Amino acid sequence: MSKVPRMTSNQEKLRIVIVGGVAGGATAAARARRMNSQAEITILEKGPAVSFANCGLPYHLGGEIEQRGKLLVATAELFWNRFRVGVRTQHEVTSIDREQQRVNGRTTDGTPFSLPYDRLILSTGSEPNHPPFFEPNSKNVFHLWTLDDMDHTLAAMQDRSVQRATVVGAGFVGLEVVEQLVHRGIAVTLIERNPQVLGPLDREMAKLIEDELKSKGVAMHLGGAIVSFTYDHHIATAVNLSDGTSIPTDLVIVGAGVRPRTQLAGEAGLTIGYTGGVQVNAYMQTNDPNIYAVGDMVEYHHGVFDKPMRIPLAGPANRAGRVAGAHAALGKSNNQQSPSMGSVIGTCIVRVFGLAAGSTGLNEKGCQAAKIDYRTATIQAPHHASYFPGAKNLTLKVIYRAGDGKLLGAQAVGAEGCDKRLDVIATVLHFGGTIEDLTKLDLAYAPPFGSAKDPLHMAAFVAENDLQHVPTLAEFDSDLDGMQIVDVRNATEIDKLPLAGAKWIPIDELAQRWTELDPARPTVTVCHSGKRAHIAACWLQGQGFANVKNLNGGMSIRSLIV
Ligand code: FAD
Repeated sequence: MSKVPRMTSNQEKLRIVIVGGVAGGATAAARARRMNSQAEITILEKGPAVSFANCGLPYHLGGEIEQRGKLLVATAELFWNRFRVGVRTQHEVTSIDREQQRVNGRTTDGTPFSLPYDRLILSTGSEPNHPPFFEPNSKNVFHLWTLDDMDHTLAAMQDRSVQRATVVGAGFVGLEVVEQLVHRGIAVTLIERNPQVLGPLDREMAKLIEDELKSKGVAMHLGGAIVSFTYDHHIATAVNLSDGTSIPTDLVIVGAGVRPRTQLAGEAGLTIGYTGGVQVNAYMQTNDPNIYAVGDMVEYHHGVFDKPMRIPLAGPANRAGRVAGAHAALGKSNNQQSPSMGSVIGTCIVRVFGLAAGSTGLNEKGCQAAKIDYRTATIQAPHHASYFPGAKNLTLKVIYRAGDGKLLGAQAVGAEGCDKRLDVIATVLHFGGTIEDLTKLDLAYAPPFGSAKDPLHMAAFVAENDLQHVPTLAEFDSDLDGMQIVDVRNATEIDKLPLAGAKWIPIDELAQRWTELDPARPTVTVCHSGKRAHIAACWLQGQGFANVKNLNGGMSIRSLIV
């Protein structure tokens, strides 16, 4: 094994200018200083603050983070005192002169400025999409993307007593806002033009979150197309949908996706990829080696797709800032040892009231778009030993390539333990691992933390069984018409959730009564979650049934959609 090479810091007096001082930019500045004590480092930020916690904005809106000051992670003073990094807020860069190596811009009060650079790092982020009905000067319609957005929303909430709010967009930020407004006692209506919440999740997993939203009183219009807002003196009083529904409202928050902020880079002739993000190499250098770009404005290499992709998340932005900061500061002479960015796989998570939901790698839509022959296995299991107090149900879905079982992605929904499972799977995905690798992981276990067979193992075992035909899984939404359906649940379960056309043989009677079934017919076994149905399917397979499948995820998943 080769030794990690020693990396020596640089003493060159480089002028490093960073445009955008939040996630990627602030990280780049701090790392650049650690790698080069002599560089002159300046952050130019058009907003009023650097290094603020944009991910925390919804939680101050809802009052869960009580003090606004907690969102200001590092101030201009801290950057100067600790790092000798000059921060100029309210400085917007409007052009880059690559020939002269200068950035030009103006301050908020209109004063022009111009600054030379040896290395330039762009971290201008992304901006929220403005739907056509968005009236910029309305007094109660907002995005939640900046500190200003949050302050304006809070002020509007104080000015008029907001009892009803409408959130447009059921992505991660939209759902965080919904949760926080409900915490404030506001009646919330959620409008999403897609037929499900949370696009990164497959529809049955998203349904678990939709049920949670409903249980908290959130009114939902999925597949709802907004045609207009009704305004009264620049105050939106209703949101109108194409089906004729008019939703009265006191406040609207729009979270309808983001687009990369690449105008500055594009006008300077930096290459924009087909995804709309700036193209960069492994060290986050653009086609101009003196200019780096990081964060929401770039396209990363997607580790599972093996293609460029935009992934507007804080983790990759911070890592990319670190990579760019080091490479830029080390200078051309000694940056050969500078670490590279590596791939991104889009691991994400959100809390929605009592549940968490997240995903990593590809979902089914992604696999279909990439024309990958994939399979899925879904399990439900307690997040730690079922006999230990406080065990909460966790639904975990793994997606893998048919044939060799290469892991492609995963999704988790549950009250506890989703983050841990997603992070472990993200690690296996990072190393290009398989379902078999997942079955072999040696994970920490004691009853308060997990199970001796962790939900991760269980999902991998189910997938492995599927791959090895012991037996295969039937998709949860399969058309069961014409199949011999063997329902092995107990009477209470069947009363609660009947399955039409099934032959009922409780699992503990199957060894005695299997002869009532026809071994020649295609057969599917069914239970609540797939566990007992697997035992049944193995039994029937052992008795010579030629074509037996186990319904993936059982009735608990099928009933969400079918
Ligand atoms: P940003 O952090 O957005 O910084 C860009 C900065 O550039 C801005 O401050 C902007 O003012 C400045 N700028 C732009 N153009 C110029 C210019 N011409 N001159 C000077 N300055 C300029 N991600 C997660 O992974 N998990 C989460 O839970 C999560 N929650 C979020 C919640 C909210 C409400 C928001 C808004 C985002 C959330 N994100 C989350 C996304 C995450 O914050 C972004 O992916 C990340 O901040 C991107 O970093 P960045 O450096 O590319 O851009």
